[in-house]
Amino acid sequence: MTTQALGQTDTRTLGQSARSEIAAIFAVALIGLGIVFVAGHAQASALHDAAHDVRHATGFPCH
Ligand SMILES: [Zn+2]
Repeated sequence: MTTQALGQTDTRTLGQSARSEIAAIFAVALIGLGIVFVAGHAQASALHDAAHDVRHATGFPCH
């Protein structure tokens, strides 16, 4: 199964690979910008509560 997946990747042309990488870069940039703009326009208390829960869930030192 893994060998088949690698074989399919090897048969790609360089142009297809570069296009998929560019598409991935744009997708990640769009998600990142979305997070920044959503965070910038959301109420600070809601963001604090969400970040606070994640800090405790991941065991990050908080208070
Ligand atoms: Zn806390």
